[in-house]
Amino acid sequence: VDVEPAESPAEALLPLTNWEAVRSQFPILGDLMYLDNAATSFAPEPVLAAMDQFERTYRANVGRGVHRLTRIASQKYWHAHEIVADFINGTAGTTVFVKNTTEAVTTIARGLDWKTGDCVVTTILEHHSNLLPWRALEKYGVTVRVVGLKPDLTLDMDALRDAMDDSVRLVAVTQASNVTGTVVPVAEIAKLCKKHGSLLAVDAAQSVPHMPVDVVALGADFVSFSGHKMCGPTGTGVLWMKNPILEPLFVGGGMVEQVGEDSFTLTEGFHRYEAGTPNIAGGIGLGAAAVFLKDIGMQNIEARERELTNRLIEKLSAVPGVKLYVPADPKQRIGVVSFTIPGISPHEAAAYLDDEAGIMVRSGMHCAEPLMRYLECPEGTIRASIAFYNTESEIDTLAATIQEIAG
Ligand code: PLP
Repeated sequence: VDVEPAESPAEALLPLTNWEAVRSQFPILGDLMYLDNAATSFAPEPVLAAMDQFERTYRANVGRGVHRLTRIASQKYWHAHEIVADFINGTAGTTVFVKNTTEAVTTIARGLDWKTGDCVVTTILEHHSNLLPWRALEKYGVTVRVVGLKPDLTLDMDALRDAMDDSVRLVAVTQASNVTGTVVPVAEIAKLCKKHGSLLAVDAAQSVPHMPVDVVALGADFVSFSGHKMCGPTGTGVLWMKNPILEPLFVGGGMVEQVGEDSFTLTEGFHRYEAGTPNIAGGIGLGAAAVFLKDIGMQNIEARERELTNRLIEKLSAVPGVKLYVPADPKQRIGVVSFTIPGISPHEAAAYLDDEAGIMVRSGMHCAEPLMRYLECPEGTIRASIAFYNTESEIDTLAATIQEIAG
């Protein structure tokens, strides 16, 4: 990628990054106006090339046998784990490839030995994928406490503090909301967890693709995210764990040391959690995505997206009737902009945007129904979600079309 690496503050480096050149790395984009990046993002040339190379030149299973192709495939697949671990500063923990954030969170929820009376604290911001796996534990006597927001749509940290006691076995929190874009102060929550002896599981599906994430600095025990939201292949995701304390969700081939007549011993490392033949091309593509993002620089990406987000919010705020659901402070939000237009359903508005202006956005509940009720949006919202490859002109076209719809 022909872009400048980021080593100093993002704002200073931003003008050096050639965003047009970055955009040209995404063959699908062309003239598409795609603002549904929180649902899934696009894959750049190096990711496509890495997957293509696997399929065309060294496709074989991994961790099995000794022939040439399996050795190359295994080396590349394992190396992808190292790249991704390094990307989140998680080298000291265990970085497991899974199929998506949902599988990562489920692996945590199913992998701990819950006792009646254990409590999980979570927030109203959560995507269903970071809510239902915890709710599913209620049948084992686990209680789920849900913390709300302040009027400015940031997390109510006082309420979170009040929800904490020594029965809290785990706190499950998103680092950035897929509806309001709210950024949650995870490092502060980590301190509360430490005080109460609770584990901390962070849903980083919307943060890892959009800001520098250092899992050690976060103080998390588990971090989950999806490859397809960070320019990687669909069907890829990551579960990072500080200590491999979970029981694996699946058992089978590729994750055992030995199998006796009536017992078996599991292997160490990420293999322990990757039973069966994994998504090898996907994993290798995910490694290429992490390299691509690192080359641009996550600080640059964050700054670029903030610039576009501020522009969109400013323009939409000027449209009479449009109601925005975003925190006011740019530092406390990512490029996810939810809004409603009185008298027009979110689906109607989104269909008009695509049919009449060629702009793709998401509409509806965003897999966050409790949050939608909390925000009093029975039909959900329209959501534009930004990636670094979006442009000022796309933002302006979206705002102008919303003006047209609202007027
Ligand atoms: N958590 C958040 C915050 C999300 O935005 C999403 C997807 O939109 C998920 C979890 C679930 O991700 P996946 O569908 O890749 O499992």
